[in-house]
Amino acid sequence: MQVLKFGGTSVASAENIGKVIAIVTSALAHGPVVLVVSALGGTTDALISAGRAAAAGDESYQETIRQLLARHGEALYALLPNALEFDKSIEESFIEVLHLCKGIHALGELSPRTLDRLMSYGELLSSRLVVAALQARGIATAWADSRQLIRTNSRFGMAQVDEAATGQLTTDFQAKTTENLWVAPGFIAADAEGHTTTLGRGGSDYTAAILAAALGAEKLEIWTDVSGMLTADPRLVRAARPIARISYEEAMELSHFGAKVLYAPTVQPVRQRGIPMWIKNTFAPADYGTLVEVAPPPSPGVVKGLSSIGNLALLNLEGGGMVGVPGFAARLFAALARARINVVLITQSSSEHSICVGVNEGDVPAAQAIVDEEFAGEIAAGRLDPLRPETGLAIVALVGDNMRNHPGISGRLFSALGHNGVNIRAIAQGASERNISTVIRAADVRKAINVLHEEFFEATYKQVNIFLLGPGNVGGKLLAQVAKQQVYLRDKLGLDLRVVAIANSRHCLVSDEGGLDLTAWPNALETAPALSLPELTKLIISKNLRNSIFVDVTANPAAADQYAPLLAKSVAVVACNKVAASSEYANYLQLKQLAQDFNTKFLFETNVGAGLPVIGTLGDLTRSGDVVRRMQAVLSGTLNFVFNHYDGTRPFAEVVRQAQTEGYTEPDPRLDLNGSDVARKILILAREAGQKLEMRDVANESFLPSSCLEGDVEAFYKELAVHEPHFKSLYEQAASQGKRLKFVAQYADSQASVGLQSIAPGHDLYELRGKDNVVLFYTDRYPEQPLVVKGAGAGAEVTASGVFADIIRSFNS
Ligand code: ADP
Ligand code: ASP
Ligand code: MG
Repeated sequence: MQVLKFGGTSVASAENIGKVIAIVTSALAHGPVVLVVSALGGTTDALISAGRAAAAGDESYQETIRQLLARHGEALYALLPNALEFDKSIEESFIEVLHLCKGIHALGELSPRTLDRLMSYGELLSSRLVVAALQARGIATAWADSRQLIRTNSRFGMAQVDEAATGQLTTDFQAKTTENLWVAPGFIAADAEGHTTTLGRGGSDYTAAILAAALGAEKLEIWTDVSGMLTADPRLVRAARPIARISYEEAMELSHFGAKVLYAPTVQPVRQRGIPMWIKNTFAPADYGTLVEVAPPPSPGVVKGLSSIGNLALLNLEGGGMVGVPGFAARLFAALARARINVVLITQSSSEHSICVGVNEGDVPAAQAIVDEEFAGEIAAGRLDPLRPETGLAIVALVGDNMRNHPGISGRLFSALGHNGVNIRAIAQGASERNISTVIRAADVRKAINVLHEEFFEATYKQVNIFLLGPGNVGGKLLAQVAKQQVYLRDKLGLDLRVVAIANSRHCLVSDEGGLDLTAWPNALETAPALSLPELTKLIISKNLRNSIFVDVTANPAAADQYAPLLAKSVAVVACNKVAASSEYANYLQLKQLAQDFNTKFLFETNVGAGLPVIGTLGDLTRSGDVVRRMQAVLSGTLNFVFNHYDGTRPFAEVVRQAQTEGYTEPDPRLDLNGSDVARKILILAREAGQKLEMRDVANESFLPSSCLEGDVEAFYKELAVHEPHFKSLYEQAASQGKRLKFVAQYADSQASVGLQSIAPGHDLYELRGKDNVVLFYTDRYPEQPLVVKGAGAGAEVTASGVFADIIRSFNS
């Protein structure tokens, strides 16, 4: 005997029922078949809502029932040539449903017993429909009324099976049935008085397992709409893939912890009898599916699957009065059992100061009442606190028989979640070590499951989600570089870089799924709506995507204000913007601290020397124990350009304007010319070297006459022209000694300064062309010959590549 069960989607329409018939026909070639069917997909929900509406006095139940009738009628006419004949019995069933609902409407009450009766029509109808369709194709088929095969207690809605009576009833039926094929409605059964009961939502799987066990079937096949039990819920994880072979225990854990594909109680009856169970796809019957068996062969991964349960609450019972006193836990569980509250998870810290249990959110009021009543004495005496419930939670579980032989699984779990700002509220690991359950915020489930799926099933593949602010010159180049490198990064580094949003002050373009198309963004951005900076932050946080990075390619101080709230949600920040790192020391420190506390990164390599590895090198030195004693640097591409091009033959103002036109200056060139941009850079380097400094501590001997700094940019250019003799004399003084003018930033003896210097030939700063930058690090390990970092220190392309490197550094660890 083979038992095949087809779920709601498999029998949702005449077309699908056709596929079911084909599968059953080929199974019949191997021996007799019991076919268990669910209601046509969505029917049970519709019946429940009709019943509830009727009880609430809402007449809409009639329309719901009419729609159900139409749907069943449609399937009937598509399946049967002599549908008319059968039409009556379907119509009669719906008249019964209508009468039942009228009764409910009149009473204004829907008892669990009546609800079971009402729901039973879904499976009664679908099974009859399938019988008629099979018979019409000339296949001898018996209808086996599950209410006469499966005996349960009277716990309506979730009845418990009397195995002995069921075994007897089923074998009796077998003895007097001649057909090789029976069709039985899933989900429904009856108690000793003959009242219809149901086995819990999704219970048709269980019906099939009960019949398989009672008949000693050679196999059970659960046919559904996915190709087996998958490594995670495919509605949450796109990369979820079928698990070929799995043990009964693993299947039980996964289904118990939310894998809807299998109703959890299903495993027990087949496990007891050692009946192999397959999970197969009605819509892709050739796919292998999943084989659930006693001892599957070893598989490469230790974790078999992930699952999750929502609507969870934690109940915390706490108090000094519990320590060392036996019996508290027993009383707590006895009280919860009295109120029929199912405990999903239990944890107790070794201090015994608190016990924490996970229950369904809906059970919280009842749990609170009964537990506070049970411990009223202790609470009044101050030895225990009143029960403290916490809602809005979910469980995410890792399941695998082999986890017990592999240390470090929890460590990977914690660090993967930690890197993504998913806070673990409680953790439980059973002694079997087959399941590690974590309790997290319900809002974090999708992210957590995806992060863990990547960690345990796609180890070579990590999704990184970029939110870019400022797609201007540098930002645009960055996007082009990302587009060009996407495939390489995926193949070589296992990084799947996706740009989720691109924003400027006027528009914000957000992708729905899968990331933006990086070839078409400029036009799309033009028509996207605007988003304020706080709104953008909100969007990033609410998207709650794993490995999120905020990339700030602006010079906007308000953008820097967004870093703290983002870092506090473990969103990495990559800033080209220098404002934050050169702001008040306390703010700089707080951002670094936040990144550390929330396990994320705050990177700003391009703040100094564009794409040159200046801050990274400094970090490598200090992290490895070296001490930076002195730094000397030329850090302004603009000033370099200006002093390399100025030799008194062309006016100074003209050279500055050329630098601006060629894109080497800040939008306001005075920020470069007055040395304040260089001052910011040496400040950042000094801080990174461990010095607590403020901007006002950086000595800045400006070479600009003070009148040049008044008024707007045009006024500035005019003043520059007025002061041409001043600039010329600076140049000539240096040139007369064979020296060159360089705007130099220095750090020594814990002090930082910037100013114009005449540099003699042979000095490390002398030979510096174009827009080159150079930094000399004098450290304990490089006391005389400095460590030199030198190269192009400005330009959109190199700056973009520096930002890109920071993005990779954020999550490639
Ligand atoms: P049926 O109606 O056939 O009983 P269900 O809807 O009850 O089907 O269960 C199948 C669905 O379970 C799938 O379509 C899928 O969305 C969901 N599901 C959740 N977790 C898993 C998992 N780990 N593996 C496979 N499917 C899962
Ligand atoms: N029709 C029932 C339900 O929707 C049983 C099942 O589909 O397994 O819960
Ligand atoms: Mg199901």
